[in-house]
Amino acid sequence: MVQIKVVRPQPVDLETYKRRVFFTIKKYRLVEMGDVIYVAVSGGKDSCAALALLKEYVDTFKIDAEIRAFHINLGFKTSPKVEEVVKALAERLGVSLHVVNAKEYLDIEAAAKASGRPICSVCGAVKRYLMNKVPRELGATKVATGHHAHDLLAYYFKNLASRNFQWNFKIVPKVEGHDILLTKIRPLIFARPEENEEFCRALELPVSPLCCEYGLCNATHIEVYEMIWATRRRDPDFDLRLIGGIVAFNLKYGKDKLDQLRRCRVCGEPTSGEICAVCKLRMKLSTRLNTTPP
Ligand code: AMP
Ligand code: ZN
Repeated sequence: MVQIKVVRPQPVDLETYKRRVFFTIKKYRLVEMGDVIYVAVSGGKDSCAALALLKEYVDTFKIDAEIRAFHINLGFKTSPKVEEVVKALAERLGVSLHVVNAKEYLDIEAAAKASGRPICSVCGAVKRYLMNKVPRELGATKVATGHHAHDLLAYYFKNLASRNFQWNFKIVPKVEGHDILLTKIRPLIFARPEENEEFCRALELPVSPLCCEYGLCNATHIEVYEMIWATRRRDPDFDLRLIGGIVAFNLKYGKDKLDQLRRCRVCGEPTSGEICAVCKLRMKLSTRLNTTPP
């Protein structure tokens, strides 16, 4: 019988983690002279780590670039508490913070009801919309997110299973913007969630355990997370080799493979169709409000 060696994933080594993140920032030119980078901070551990590490990188290497924070108050019951945590984090790190209320653009809960779409999918559409529009209007050169290796592996396998192959070309550390599309950077693309968590804990950074009361975003990826953990029992670094391979493939073969976006006919924001997802939701919501008796 073949003996299968089962290895528990290694304990987190924060020095290695930080070196890996700094190496990613340098190698892929995520931070450049003159940059004004808005970090999209959700209140959770991942974007908290992204903000802290980008700030530390710029300070340590004395780069002429500015790191600022940006938070979307989603308008849920827990949102005021989450916003407080983000304010405390920005203050602790000495970065400026801009907060935008999603409700000024769309009531996420009402739009989910009116459209019949799952709340996490409506929330995702609004976040993507605001993460491009608001920092751009504030003068950003780039927007950074806290997406980590396992988030992106989950995205990769979900797209593979649903045959949305095209979207997988977006899995790179830096997605160059054009026209009104901001450049997106992912400094934690080669970092793991447990490393981000340990980093925030070690520095005692203010972090909110749940970004909303629905908590379903990651639940939809649970099978992929389980698959990643299963592979790491025998090969603890398999996750990083996998994401490394996907990124290398995309950088070599994925150039010019992303859909060219145009401007939404209604609001002018980027979209792959005629009308963007947020405007479509807004239309559904107003139709529903106009046809529902008080
Ligand atoms: P999620 O799609 O919730 O997994 O979040 C992915 C990334 O989007 C996070 O790492 C953040 O950078 C950003 N993000 C999520 N929620 C918010 C929010 N409410 N405000 C600002 N940025 C957010
Ligand atoms: Zn629109």
